[in-house]
Amino acid sequence: MMKYEMSEPIGEDSIKKSDGYYISKKSLIAIVTAFVLLLVGVAVLFYFIPRPSNEDEVVCPSVVPPPSDDPEDDIECPPMPDIPVEGPTESDPFYGRLSEDIKPKHYTVWLKIYLDPKDATKQYSFDGNVSIVMHVYATTNTIKIHVRDLNLYHENTYLTDSLQNDVAISHLYEDEVNQFYVIETATPLAAGEDYIFHANFDAPLTLNFHGLYRSFYGTPPNVVDLVASQCQSVAARTIFPCFDEPSFKATFDMIIVHRDKRHALSNMPVINETNIEDDWIETTFETSLVMPTYLLAVVVSDFPSLDLVDGDLTFRVWAQPDYITAANYSLHIGLKMLRFFEEHYGIPYPISKLDMVAIPQFLAGAMENWGLVQYSEGTMIYDPEVNTPSRKQTVALVVAHELAHKWFGNLVTMDWWEHIWLNEGFASFVTYLGVDHVEPDWKYWDSFHVLDMASAYTADSRSSSARPLILPVGWNSEISSMFDTITYSKGAAICRHFRSFLDESVIHNGIKDYLQTYQYSNTVSDDLWAILTRADEGFKGTDVKMVMDSFTLMAGHPIVTVNRTDTNTVIVEQTYFLTDPIDYYQDQYPNNGYIWHVPLTYTDSSYPNFLRPKEDWLYKDPLVINLAGLKDQDWVLFNIDKWGFYRVNYDDDNWQKLANQFKTDHTVITDQSRASTIDDAFKAAEPFHTDVINALRLTEYLDKEFENVVWETVLTNLDYTHRMLLRTAEFYLLEVYWSQKVRPLYESLGWDFSLGGHLDYFQRISAIETACTYGTEDCVTQALEQYRHWMSTGVNDIRDEVRSTVYCTAIRHGGLDEWEFAHAQVTNDTFGTTETDRLQSAMGCTDKSWLLQRYLEDENFATSTVISNIRGKSAVGYSLAWDYTMNNFEKLGLSYKTVWDFKDYMNTQYDLDQLNVFGSRNSNMSSDSAKGFYDAVQRVETNMDWMNKNKDSVKQWLLQVMNISATKTATKGATTDVPRPDTPSRQLTDQGPLIVDGKLGANRIPRISEELYQLQSHRKHKG
Ligand SMILES: [Zn+2]
Repeated sequence: MMKYEMSEPIGEDSIKKSDGYYISKKSLIAIVTAFVLLLVGVAVLFYFIPRPSNEDEVVCPSVVPPPSDDPEDDIECPPMPDIPVEGPTESDPFYGRLSEDIKPKHYTVWLKIYLDPKDATKQYSFDGNVSIVMHVYATTNTIKIHVRDLNLYHENTYLTDSLQNDVAISHLYEDEVNQFYVIETATPLAAGEDYIFHANFDAPLTLNFHGLYRSFYGTPPNVVDLVASQCQSVAARTIFPCFDEPSFKATFDMIIVHRDKRHALSNMPVINETNIEDDWIETTFETSLVMPTYLLAVVVSDFPSLDLVDGDLTFRVWAQPDYITAANYSLHIGLKMLRFFEEHYGIPYPISKLDMVAIPQFLAGAMENWGLVQYSEGTMIYDPEVNTPSRKQTVALVVAHELAHKWFGNLVTMDWWEHIWLNEGFASFVTYLGVDHVEPDWKYWDSFHVLDMASAYTADSRSSSARPLILPVGWNSEISSMFDTITYSKGAAICRHFRSFLDESVIHNGIKDYLQTYQYSNTVSDDLWAILTRADEGFKGTDVKMVMDSFTLMAGHPIVTVNRTDTNTVIVEQTYFLTDPIDYYQDQYPNNGYIWHVPLTYTDSSYPNFLRPKEDWLYKDPLVINLAGLKDQDWVLFNIDKWGFYRVNYDDDNWQKLANQFKTDHTVITDQSRASTIDDAFKAAEPFHTDVINALRLTEYLDKEFENVVWETVLTNLDYTHRMLLRTAEFYLLEVYWSQKVRPLYESLGWDFSLGGHLDYFQRISAIETACTYGTEDCVTQALEQYRHWMSTGVNDIRDEVRSTVYCTAIRHGGLDEWEFAHAQVTNDTFGTTETDRLQSAMGCTDKSWLLQRYLEDENFATSTVISNIRGKSAVGYSLAWDYTMNNFEKLGLSYKTVWDFKDYMNTQYDLDQLNVFGSRNSNMSSDSAKGFYDAVQRVETNMDWMNKNKDSVKQWLLQVMNISATKTATKGATTDVPRPDTPSRQLTDQGPLIVDGKLGANRIPRISEELYQLQSHRKHKG
């Protein structure tokens, strides 16, 4: 399946963090200090505030809406469909696995679909029967077959032997906890024999997004119904009784009966369509390949199709009539990708047809059913006249992902859900191959750094969302939880990780061997390790299992520290990496003491070689590497192009040398290594593994940098420094610095979206946003002109992609008129939600205190929304929002979350004291709110640490890089001396960041990136 990222992993903290330990020693000291004059308050705080609990956790359901074309349009948790709660809790032992004593060989499934009013009481239901030929491997009296939410006609259930003789059933019942239909026989079923199970059933067809369900298009009274299906992970059992585990593969004969105004699709080609009884048609399909139940699919609709016939393959796309012509892009790239994968892996796609259908209501982004891939409309439909390049990219990558599954998942299937990364990690990785093949201009491999890799590192560097890639699961809820960022993105990054210690040819031959060896079968991760080990025999002779166990059976990943001890010697060590300095791993997963077998790749400036770097292995003990021939001024660089899934930190001296190389000639180091070096430096600085100055120095050359992957990486790393300095005198220097750095890129791209290619499109959006955010004069001028043109003409021709930026910039640098125009637009309420949200957000961009105060008191808007629109955009906005929140908390019934959300900007002792005073005054808060409080306190303490360690050095660095003497800025008002070539028409006090809810740059990258591949700790969903 394809999944989307939707939000931060709200729920996981509450899952894995339990009572008690939330108050660290540091927190206690700080809180006690803060309450030295409020001794009683200390007791109140810790005695009366309820401890956090893991009840009522908030987890985004594993579902997604179609991706929006609006890069600013955050995807939120969609409404959860009516999916039954899955049985007992995860702490209960799980006995729901099928017995290996008896296995299915072949199913015959007959289904009749009722969708029309003339079906009377049967409308929106289906009924059917199934016969399952089973083979007995060990003599037994008991058959367990999965079933859920089906009305079974027990009286029609019977069993025969292979000669059609009845086999007496002594007991028949449903085990609802384990979702089994249990058939006990009077006499044992003999090992080596075949038996046939028969059952009849019916069930409703509702819009529940799983199993066989109703979908529709059109608007009343012209609604047209259809039927779609979604069997992954465990919903085939809601269509007919079946052995619903991925390793219980079998063949299927599907027969679908439906009204003649529709047609039926399933995994295999149609054998015949026969008219029966009035206007009914019975469609019979070819016997399927050997496959698991979760890949079964049925669509009954009146959709038109577009067809391509290529040799003996018929490739078709289907969609509702209004969208079918816009399915042309997915049709053509789909066929091209399929043929490419066939050649690349040397295994032909084995079915004579492939249908791709855009379903109007489809919860997963897409589902790779063999022969019948189903998509949500937003992931398959692309109209170049209407949709943006962002949508085009979405369609390309989702189609690539689903077609990659034809080999990884369909042909070779994981044995059980704990190894689901073998499906989804590989499909996510191979997606880049497919997209790169059909759209080579996109340089899509570069995107791996800012898409899957960034998502994987983020999820894997927080104890709240990190987990072993391979994790035993049982209950359905546990299976669902496996469809997360770790499975998809870390799984993809692990596929790339092979490249850090195996030659490309070895990997390629190994993967081909893996597919050949296990086609039509099932695998566990060890099967892959064994194949790759065999492939490497005669080359490096790597024990792949030993290496990969450390990266797949433990949560998290290491940071490798490289210290130069003398000119020719470095010592390399590892420790686990967590983003938050006060975060830590609990030993809740099997681990190896958090020691990884780290495949090192490295080069140096004496002979930079990024194609064939030097290699070594790091394990428990520090590794001493001799670098003969190195001179004092030479740098070393590890983890070439970030093939390996680990971070790297260096001593200050080497960071400085790398920064010097960037400034003298950055092209000596590859784009991907520049991007990953900068990323590692910023990430290492966050938990204080290195000084943030080492990271900032690496950005000094950026006025000469034009590569998309580098800029996107940089921009995702500015947020924290930006927030910390927001309320300091140094913020102005930071603004001028970034304005200078981004200006050449901004000027090279301009505002004309008709120029340049696919990458320019996205980079232009980022450049405009960054330039306007930091007050680059031309950008501000352009934004004001465009906004004022809208004001004067009433015609808004500002491009959708940059509207948020333009609105905010115009309001920040404009005056009362610009603000009131936005106010009028919003209160007239002539827009959709997206546009209204943009304008409301932009209204918080002004730093005129009287306008912000008016905004806060405006009864047209929800106060909590206004506070969040103001809080992070300027120092004055922060202060006004905090004061207003404190003064009106009870009167306006504001939520505790509104208070806790200030934590990302709080970084002083005074901030912490205020937070603690608020906590003590509200000691009757709920357990969940208390958890928010403790989290906020920890966050603020971490921010304070950062400020103590970095604020002065950042200031000195800014002064130095901008050639300003410290004495100039030491005097009040002297900041007007800062050489600001852009000379925005604002005073120092006007300066404020253009950040939206703490995130600088909402549209760094095609939005789908984050939607698709971050998530899930946010368990978004499955693919
Ligand atoms: Zn998938």
